[in-house]
Parts: sequence; C-alpha cells; structure tokens
Amino acid sequence: MGNNKRDRRAGQAGKKGPALPFYKKNDLVTVSITDQGSDGAGIGKADGYTLFVKDAVIGDTVKARITKAKKNYAYARVEFIQKPSPDRVEPRCPIARQCGGCQIQALSYEKQLAFKQDKVRADLLRIGGFEQTLVDAVMEPIVGMQDLAAGPWRYRNKAQIPVGKDSAGHLVAGFYAGRTHRIIPMTDCLLGDEVNREIVECVMSYMQLYRVPPYEEETGKGLIRHILIRSGRSTGQIMVCLILNGDRLPYESELVRQLAAIPGMTSISVNVNTERTNVILGKELRTLWGQDEIEDTLRVFDIGEDGSFVPSSESVTFRISPLSFYQVNPEQTQKLYSLALDYAGLTGKETVWDLYCGVGTISLFMARRAGKVCGVEIIPEAIENARENARRNGIENAQFFVGKAEEVLPEYVLQKRANEEDPGIDVICVDPPRKGCDSRCLETILEIRPQRVVYVSCDPATLARDLRVLADGGYRLERVRPVDQFGHTCHIETVCLLTHKG
Ligand code: SAH
Repeated sequence: MGNNKRDRRAGQAGKKGPALPFYKKNDLVTVSITDQGSDGAGIGKADGYTLFVKDAVIGDTVKARITKAKKNYAYARVEFIQKPSPDRVEPRCPIARQCGGCQIQALSYEKQLAFKQDKVRADLLRIGGFEQTLVDAVMEPIVGMQDLAAGPWRYRNKAQIPVGKDSAGHLVAGFYAGRTHRIIPMTDCLLGDEVNREIVECVMSYMQLYRVPPYEEETGKGLIRHILIRSGRSTGQIMVCLILNGDRLPYESELVRQLAAIPGMTSISVNVNTERTNVILGKELRTLWGQDEIEDTLRVFDIGEDGSFVPSSESVTFRISPLSFYQVNPEQTQKLYSLALDYAGLTGKETVWDLYCGVGTISLFMARRAGKVCGVEIIPEAIENARENARRNGIENAQFFVGKAEEVLPEYVLQKRANEEDPGIDVICVDPPRKGCDSRCLETILEIRPQRVVYVSCDPATLARDLRVLADGGYRLERVRPVDQFGHTCHIETVCLLTHKG
C-alpha cells in the first residue's frame, strides 16, 4: 500500500524542521480498519500513515474525515462505511455512538473476544518481547461471558447516572456524550440492571413534582448531581445513593417512600459533594432508609483439566458501601478470581501476599486455601472493609496493611532481614491499576523470590512491560488467560502465572 513519494516527503520535512502533517483536517481518506485502539477507535493505515477512526471496527473499509492531523498519525471519524466488516452487528443500544461507553458494541461478541485475545498476545510479543512460540504455548483462550450468542448484556452491578438539564432547560438523566459534559437522556443502559430504569424514573418524577433542581456544572447551582445504584447480584439487594450539592433533600420522606417500595431495595442514602469537581462522590454519607451497606456473595469455581469452570462450594460474602471499590461484573469476577486461585496453587500451608487488594476480595478467597495471607492497599477505607469482610466470613488468617505496595513490601522485607529472618513468602498476587506495578514493587518481588507470582491486570500493555521485568529477573511465564469483564468496551482483564526458575 506504501506510497513512497509521500513517505519520503514526510521524512525530509522531518529533518529540516517540524514536519508537515501527511493529511490535513477535513481531508477524506479511504481506509481499511485492521485493529482497535485502547480507547475504542478503529485503527487503519493509509499510505503508511496511521489513522484512528472513531466508530469504525476491525474489518470495515470506511471513508473517514480527518478531524485532527499530526506528523505520523491523525484522528478521524467515519463519513460513511464503504464496506462493512463481516463482524459488524447492529448495536442494540440506540445511543451507542454518542455515548462512547461501549466502544465496540458494533462488533459481534465473538469478534470482540478474538480482538481482546489478539491484543494480549500482540502486547506480549511487541512490548514484552516474549518469543512467539512461548506466547502461543502459554496463552489459554479468553473466558467470555456465558451466553456468546446473546452477548454480554445487563452484567454491571453498578451505575452512576448524571442528572442535569438539556439545552431547552428540561430535566434529563442519562450518560455523558463521549468526552463531553452534555447529558444524553438514557434511563435504561443495556449493560446495567433493568431495575435502574424504575429507580431513575422514580427520582425524576419526584424532582419534577417537588421542583428539586438538578445540579448544573456551569453555575455550580442546583441540588441533585448523580444517582448511584449498586446491586448484590447474588442477594438481590439494591442500594440507591443520591449525590447532592447540599446536605439535605426537600420532601425526603416522599422520595424514600417510593424508592423503598421497589422490590429488593435495601439501602437508600445521600452523599454530600459540594465541590465544583468531576469527582462524583464526596466523603460525607447519610443513610436515609434501610441498611448502610448491601451484601453480595461471590463463589469460585474449580478449574478442570481442560480449563473449564466446575462449580464449587467456596464462597465469600462482601459488604459494599456506596464508597467501596467492588468489581462491576460479578459473573466474570468469579471466573477471574477462580483462575487467580488456581494459578496460586495453594495447598493450605503457604504464605501469600496480595498486593493492591482493594476490599480484600482475592485475599479472602486465598486465605481459605493458604496458611496466611497479607493484603496491601493504598486506600484506608478499603482496608477497613477488608478487615470487616474477613471478620464476618470467619477468616482469621488474613492480615491487612494500608500503604503503597512498593513501600509496605520492601519495609517488611528489610525488617525481616534486620532480624536475620527470611521473608518466607511463597506466593505474591498483584492486581494493580492500569499503570501497572511500580518498579520498586517488581524489584522487591525479584529479591524475595516467591515460588509463584500471580499477576491480575486490567491493561495488557503495562502487563507485558512488567512481565518482561519479572522474566528477566528469573521467572518463567507459565500461563496467561484473558477474562472478559467488560463486554462491548475495549477494556481487557488478564490473569497470568509466573514461577521461579531457581
Ligand atoms: N484486587 C482488588 C482491587 C483491584 S483494583 C479487587 O479485585 O477488587 C486496584 C487497587 O489498587 C485499588 O483498590 C487501588 O486503590 C489500589 N492501589 C492503587 N495504587 C496502589 C499502590 N501503589 N499500592 C497499593 N494499592 C494501590
């Protein structure tokens, strides 16, 4: 496809001064989409020049209008689809394009899974520098949601719905249009629970009836900012928390009476956030009705010889407050944790460290099968939840520390060494945020030399980078398995096992 003359021109311009962009804004370009970027845009090359095309999916050939041109790449949007991808499907959601939450809803679910599997593989090769034969030997097939044909719908146990006014001044609740603060009316996101619609409509009719104003970002005035809904999928418990720019609701009892009548309602609260910020939740919480928290029980599976998920009786029950971090797709989380547990290879005696442990979810499952588990997490409230979760589940061999993984772990090792003791850690599990592990955390792992490292990742690029460090430090990459936690979006979750060569 290369057009050499143009390539040379771009190259020469680079030597003399700032290069001219290859294309300019508003140019119309024909491009075949061969990949999907981490933000969901379709990626294709035209004459060696890379285009990121919004709303295009792998396999499409589109005419794209350039929206922003850089030296070696440009952003564009689909002007029209010249030849649709054979994997293109009609998005079920009417606002899929504007919303931007589901970047790849127009791709069949099977193709979404294949794309995620390929992305992990490509990053291990390109960023991790692993040999192709090794990668192909260790990678196991991505774990998709159960019903492949129906696709991954209604899986989320949490929704945060902004409330505001449209340009005509009417009350709206819905979703922000991709990268903007304009609210598109939508009370029934197909990734969320069906009951969300009833809850949102209940809040909206209360607001209309009692003239309760929505918060307006431009002026900082108005009262109701967001409606947060969480549910315990296994218990059927529902929590509603209204985020307020103020500390009380007028005619509170009217709203509470209506919400409380919804089957499953367990907790109704308000959260105060009077700051002019994009951060959704404030610190202050007040329960208006019912419990302060809801509960959810997660079960894990045994992993069969063939990689299948065999139901087991092991479960842990978690308490969730409006402020807690909790995985949003419980069906898939159970499979993710099952794999992490299986990879940890516990026999009842081991000492395990679970770094980036959140509210102790992985730690507590591991504790049931290990000698002792230590969890580390930066957010103090999450550690309080983790301790409470351990207590309520009768788990006594788990201990939790507040702090940065890259500080708590080295300090622990130093202290042990000062007493001329071995840290005695058999397994380390890490589940860092997207930016991956801090290099000090990885160095300490290499120094401790646990037999096994289980790496749970939500970003294949930083995963591949970190796995390289561990591989260079004496670990063998043994198993890699993506688990689709976020169907219709580009997010990719992966679990890996490394064992020490020594
Ligand atoms: N394993 C948990 C949470 C994973 S999310 C679960 O499955 O639910 C990643 C967690 O890492 C978040 O709770 C975040 O607060 C925490 N975190 C971020 N940076 C950290 C650091 N440097 N040290 C320890 N924890 C950190």
